[in-house]
Amino acid sequence: MTTFLAFGEARDGELRILSYETIAAAKQIDENAEVVGVVLADQNTESLANEMIQYGADRAVVVEHDNLKEYTSDAYTQAAMAVIEEEDPDGIVMGHTSAGKDLSPRLANKLDSGLVSDITNVDGGEFVRPIYSGKAFEKKTVKDGLTFVTIRPNNIPPLEKDESRSGDVNAIEVDIKDLRTIIKDVVRKASEGVDLSEANIIVAGGRGVKSEEGFEPLYELADELGAAVGASRGACDAGYCDYSLQIGQTGKVVTPDLYIAVGISGAIQHLAGMSNSKVIVAINKDPEANIFNVADYGIVGDLFDVIPKLTEEVKAL
Ligand code: FAD
Repeated sequence: MTTFLAFGEARDGELRILSYETIAAAKQIDENAEVVGVVLADQNTESLANEMIQYGADRAVVVEHDNLKEYTSDAYTQAAMAVIEEEDPDGIVMGHTSAGKDLSPRLANKLDSGLVSDITNVDGGEFVRPIYSGKAFEKKTVKDGLTFVTIRPNNIPPLEKDESRSGDVNAIEVDIKDLRTIIKDVVRKASEGVDLSEANIIVAGGRGVKSEEGFEPLYELADELGAAVGASRGACDAGYCDYSLQIGQTGKVVTPDLYIAVGISGAIQHLAGMSNSKVIVAINKDPEANIFNVADYGIVGDLFDVIPKLTEEVKAL
């Protein structure tokens, strides 16, 4: 039987949804594989490991250490290598997140392995990944050695949670040392509401929103929809919102069920971050705007008229 490691990602003592997606991906790659959930964190690892099992992992391995409170390359590489050495897996699945993008090539290098990164689907043993900023897809296969992949969040649905599932949880002691970086404090901007990279619905504003205050109606609509707010680089560069909201080639890559692009022209670098969204609605006063070429639904009009009306309609539902 083959063994796959599905790496979870913990944040503030809780698992990100992506963690469960890695388990589903491992099962898609090899339905007969034993899937081992991996939790690297500073606290609560046993209960997080049990959650991984309830979402389909057969058992779990955890490393709990103070130095795993925030992601750092050195600490996480040491912890992950200890798990890999203990388990000697046939495959590894991680999220294509900021942490996963940093950690996976480091591990692949140490393991002398290949790495198929940023996959969105597993199609009959082939890994599907977007290329050229989402304009095309390529398929990759792993012929020998370790099957090591990172998955784009929000593309491979997690398995149904089954609270009756149980399995072994093995805690590994790791002497995490020689750290070149120690994070003493993390200053996070108080983010309201839903995490952008895991949101099912995103309301994104562009330069057409015209000001920081112009974003207010977008936040109101997002609140009603249970959505996250995102932005184009145009809006971030203009100072209307924080760069943590930027979506696109040099921002976050998102795949929500519904993406509402408001006052965004649809530059190729923006499309790179959102064109795989399941349903795209564009609101723009220019009927020739490129965003309409990728939109499933378009509203040609002034966003300051359209958004409040849309919010009222959603409230009335
Ligand atoms: P604009 O192109 O100025 O579009 C504003 C739109 O708002 C227009 O279509 C206009 O018709 C509409 N509008 C104006 N007023 C209204 C109104 N009242 N009602 C309705 N519609 C209105 N961009 C990103 O977004 N993400 C990236 O990650 C990114 N990375 C980049 C990397 C590189 C190397 C480079 C060179 C560029 C990158 N860009 C990125 C920038 C990108 O090329 C565009 O400049 C940017 O996306 C434009 O933002 P925008 O659509 O908000 O602004």
